[in-house]
Amino acid sequence: MSKVLNAKFFNEFIDMVDLCCSLGWNERNGGNMSYRIATEDIEAIKDEFTFEKPWTSIGVTVANLANEYFLVTGSGKYFRYTKAEPEKSVCIAQLDEKGENYRIVWGLVEGGRPTSEFPTHLLNHSVKFDITGGKHRLVMHVHPVNTIALTFVLPQNDKDFTREIWDMMPECAVVFPRGIGILPLMLTGSIDIAKATAEKFKEYDVVVWSMHGIFSSGENFRDVFGIIETVEKAAEILVKVISMGGKKVRPTAQEIIDVCEEYNLDINKSLL
Ligand SMILES: [Zn+2]
Repeated sequence: MSKVLNAKFFNEFIDMVDLCCSLGWNERNGGNMSYRIATEDIEAIKDEFTFEKPWTSIGVTVANLANEYFLVTGSGKYFRYTKAEPEKSVCIAQLDEKGENYRIVWGLVEGGRPTSEFPTHLLNHSVKFDITGGKHRLVMHVHPVNTIALTFVLPQNDKDFTREIWDMMPECAVVFPRGIGILPLMLTGSIDIAKATAEKFKEYDVVVWSMHGIFSSGENFRDVFGIIETVEKAAEILVKVISMGGKKVRPTAQEIIDVCEEYNLDINKSLL
């Protein structure tokens, strides 16, 4: 039995892909995910890798991620079929010693390449690697319905978008106390959107792409999923509230601060 297919991180990754799909967050080939694999996990599976595939330019330089390995979903692959066909749907990619190129060392057995958003993923990993001292390992991108719907009606700035979401449940400010970054509609898969997203990730753990979807970064599968499902739950409540005619009441800024101070969290007061 394959060591890769049996590895704990690999199965957590595949299960997360499957869960996101079951929630309706990943239609067709929508969404993508990447996980920076720990050194000890690489050592345990490395003898199943092949190092014959050519190096391919990433399009950006991520020097602090040189020689790292990433488990990443494939371009054009469907989340829905990933659990049934993991070797065809995902790959492990190794970065070169300068963080400028990658090569596939496992997976995508019928051909293909990592997600077209790989530059965005890697720049986000790079930003979070420095900020968290290497603790963040996972970047996830999905298309949750209510969050996307709100980008058509809410103001397109971090402060207003965050506050509208924070208002919905006290839990929101606790789960993402730094807030939410929002970007306007941009060309997906481009270096421009990769750089703009990474810039937002310097401040936030969750970034919304207007009229498209959501990106989040965190230490593990549980944390990243938890952030996205909390944003989406709050977004669903807000969609219902707007559908009923809009808010009649809302928490004060001080009430949101009080909840975070109760848990010793560094609430981003500039968004209140
Ligand atoms: Zn997308």
